[in-house]
Amino acid sequence: MTRYRDYKYEYRIDDKDAITFVDQDWLQFAQENEAPDLTLEKVIGSNLLGHIEDDATRSLYKNLFDRIRTYGISTLIPYRCDSPTLRREFDLIIQPLENWGIKFKSKISSITISDYNPLLDISVPRSKQVFEICSCCKNVLFPDKTWKSLERALTRVNLSDLIVPEVTNSVCPKCTQLLQEWIK
Ligand SMILES: [Zn+2]
Repeated sequence: MTRYRDYKYEYRIDDKDAITFVDQDWLQFAQENEAPDLTLEKVIGSNLLGHIEDDATRSLYKNLFDRIRTYGISTLIPYRCDSPTLRREFDLIIQPLENWGIKFKSKISSITISDYNPLLDISVPRSKQVFEICSCCKNVLFPDKTWKSLERALTRVNLSDLIVPEVTNSVCPKCTQLLQEWIK
């Protein structure tokens, strides 16, 4: 796994959270995963927080960025970012830059082959049902309001009928608490 040893997938934002730089690894990763149509022209200049769907997650990250800018501290955040057939864990390093910019770099800490996961396959048709998924740990909010692992959520997806629910990103209570501890 030597090739994954170093942190890459780098992107940077300026003092107003506008993306000023992404490296080739980051762009290629995004294109191969959730955003096949993404181009450098679309990314550069766009607001990083504008790419986050839900208000709660956006405000968590905003607080984290404020904290990093105010105190000039670096933070390491573990998160999970699977593909339909790979379970991938990353470490994200967030570092302050001069002029209130921030730099993000990630490293894959663990990668294993998983059962095919249609919830994460953007080419699969979706039902009207919506599942909330935590953008940090990939746990899924069930209709009974409990958060369960992505693997357990899969048992509820009917593969033969291809009735795969839509997923929206948020942050589960456990990860919210972890992020808030970093922000303190
Ligand atoms: Zn979580």
